[in-house]
Amino acid sequence: MSDKLAIHGGPKSKTVPFGTGKRFGEEELKELAEALEQNTLFYHFGTKVKTFLDRFNDLYGVQYSVATSSGTAAIHVALGAAGVSVGDEVITSPITDQGTLIGILYQNAIPVFADLDPHTYNLDPASIESRITPRTKAIVAVHLAGNPCDMDPIMATARKHGLTVIEDCAQSYLTRYKGRLVGTIGHYGCFSTNDFKHISTGDGGIVTVNSGSESDYYAVHAFADKNYRRFGGEVVRELHGLAPNYRMTELQGAVGIAQLRKLPDICAARRKHGDRLTAAISDLPGIKPHHVEVGNECTYWFYMLRVDERELGAPREVFSEALAAEGIPNVPGYIPDVVYMQPLFQRREAYAGTHFPFDITGITYERGLCPNAEAILRTAVRIAISEFYSDLDVDEIAAGIGKVARYFHSHTTQTIGDTER
Ligand SMILES: *Cc1c(COP(=O)(O)O)cnc(C)c1O
Repeated sequence: MSDKLAIHGGPKSKTVPFGTGKRFGEEELKELAEALEQNTLFYHFGTKVKTFLDRFNDLYGVQYSVATSSGTAAIHVALGAAGVSVGDEVITSPITDQGTLIGILYQNAIPVFADLDPHTYNLDPASIESRITPRTKAIVAVHLAGNPCDMDPIMATARKHGLTVIEDCAQSYLTRYKGRLVGTIGHYGCFSTNDFKHISTGDGGIVTVNSGSESDYYAVHAFADKNYRRFGGEVVRELHGLAPNYRMTELQGAVGIAQLRKLPDICAARRKHGDRLTAAISDLPGIKPHHVEVGNECTYWFYMLRVDERELGAPREVFSEALAAEGIPNVPGYIPDVVYMQPLFQRREAYAGTHFPFDITGITYERGLCPNAEAILRTAVRIAISEFYSDLDVDEIAAGIGKVARYFHSHTTQTIGDTER
């Protein structure tokens, strides 16, 4: 019987190996050779990082951006340029990579977590509003997994309270919110080119400067470069404030140029695959697809569905194991727990031996702070999406999810019905 689960000895839903491919090739090699030929790998003397940024600016329709050594660095630079400082509060998402938090803490500012929409997994604007205090200085809006945050109300809240909005676009290349590219809507947009993102330079990052103001651009640039000011004739080395060295090298810039050429196709493929999966699983019992609001475009860095365990008739872990047995690799949840339940926040110890900066306000982080976010991580199942997948790969993922969901739904409904009667 073909609907016998693979975990019970039935046939697997996945019949052919997943599509794979090479991310780097001749294009990257050519750019790298040219970079070495320059006889300098310093971004300010060479042309590769500059060209990388020029191309990025063209693609995004922005005037200024700055390259950094990582996505974490990009976010730190935006915070620094925004003047986020000791004791300021920064509102952000409890489901994210720690790269979102690190710059906040290095500025000795205090992360404050707002709750999420249960199905887009992005910040709930009403929850942001409820977290604002006189200390609030900025919002770091994480566009999780290629899906845009609801930016209109977030920007309205920011305007009302005079806050800076930093978009964390590390997982969201060419993602569109109501037609607009994320990373161009807030004051700054921060991207990562680490090896696991849509495009890779090994490590690296970009900050867009959306004010279009030259002085803002110079401030961002200086904050990524030890506060050196390299514009307007002579280099000014006078040290006015603390700023790290987060420079990108010419080698990263060279690879980035070649990777950017591939970016539109990568994003188009991922978008097609994710939307195809949603269409195929949206009527299944107990399965809540990765929700994208009408009018938005998600470029799926990963696909994360949720199970409604009661409706499904099985715990998330049992569903996940049965799906894996079908030949569909998946991971229950995403990060181990919401960010604020992790040891750094529970111990309130970012720097060894001190509770600074948390003790400035006496903030504590407790279970239940963001109930939607906690429920998301308890019931989510994450599935990889790749630009190298074929339509058949996606259809077989959907078939596996459908087979497992229908099996548990029909079997457990009967059992529960019998015992209840
Ligand atoms: C990857 C990532 C970062 C950090 O990027 P790095 O380049 O690894 O420092 C920040 N935020 C999110 C949401 C990410 O996924």
